Amino acid sequence: MALSDRILMGPGPCNPYPDAVAALGRPMLGHLDPEFLGILDETNDRLREVWKTSNRLTFPVSATGSAGMEICLVNVIEPGDAVVIGVNGVFGGRMVEVAERCGADVTRVDFEWGQPVDPEQLLDAHPNPKLIGVVHAETSTGVRSEIGELGANKGDALLLVDCVTSLGGIPVEIDEWGVDLAYSGTQKCLGVAPGLAPVTVSERARQFIVARPRSWYLDLNLISKYVDGEGARAYHHTAPISMIFSLHAGLGAVLDEGLENAWERHETCGRRLREGLTDLGFELFAVEGHRLPELTTVTVPDGVDDAVVRSRLLSDYGIEIGGGLGAYAGKVWRIGCMGHTARLRNVELLLAALTQLV
Ligand code: PLP
Repeated sequence: MALSDRILMGPGPCNPYPDAVAALGRPMLGHLDPEFLGILDETNDRLREVWKTSNRLTFPVSATGSAGMEICLVNVIEPGDAVVIGVNGVFGGRMVEVAERCGADVTRVDFEWGQPVDPEQLLDAHPNPKLIGVVHAETSTGVRSEIGELGANKGDALLLVDCVTSLGGIPVEIDEWGVDLAYSGTQKCLGVAPGLAPVTVSERARQFIVARPRSWYLDLNLISKYVDGEGARAYHHTAPISMIFSLHAGLGAVLDEGLENAWERHETCGRRLREGLTDLGFELFAVEGHRLPELTTVTVPDGVDDAVVRSRLLSDYGIEIGGGLGAYAGKVWRIGCMGHTARLRNVELLLAALTQLV
């Protein structure tokens, strides 16, 4: 089977939107070419629409989602700053590690995997933190946590939200929820290849940006000169031109469809997948009411060989699904339905294949 026939139903990357693939082949332009700068400006406008924000400092970082996490922390955290982070899976844990490397004094609040972060417990964890961090959509467990309550009650703290697996797939409301810093990745519900990290920073958070962050590449003081169009109008490095063309096109596909329609398409696929898997006898892993439509997690039934089934799905049907992480390796499957992959035809094909294999 041709590699181009692969159906990517793992936790990401998904199959990119055809327009995003085609855009990778656009003629190369110089990174200061006015044509390119126009496309970059338009990309940032499109990102503001998808993020639902008016934040001026909204742009794609030239690296993957993890760099989005790091840029948000390294620019506002100084050694000794109090930071509270909710951890209900791998990526909350990664946020703790990055914050600690910035020298933060981290209060880590753990929740059982498969459960959401409880906003009240996070808010009660420290009397006056500089920053509260949380993962909106935990890709290791398929769980959505509530953000609005944190934003409404954060006090003077900055609210940092990981939207890597949520942006473009489920509602994200940066301004309405009072989020100060957020980052995403291109390879999930935005339907583009991996390689960029869309980031948005509120005007309030910009006042906390330190003069000399402990990273040159991720220094927002240098990069924001471009974003605000102050003089130089360039990233402080060579922009990844082709990836920005591709993100521009992927966002175009989402906005042409209508953001709400894209959410609805993810919702429809997730609902059908959960229903079909339950009919096949699978037990859903994430707690009800917080299940992500774009990432369904199920317990691997007794007697089913995790590795054999996943490898036969790939070799016989060209379908990739993801295994569990950490303590759930071999015990849980993570089935993505993101971006261009979120089509009912893909869901039905996977369910039919699983009927043969388990
Ligand atoms: N945060 C979440 C919730 C993720 O799912 C991922 C990647 O899967 C990341 C952060 C890191 O993103 P990347 O792998 O693009 O660096």
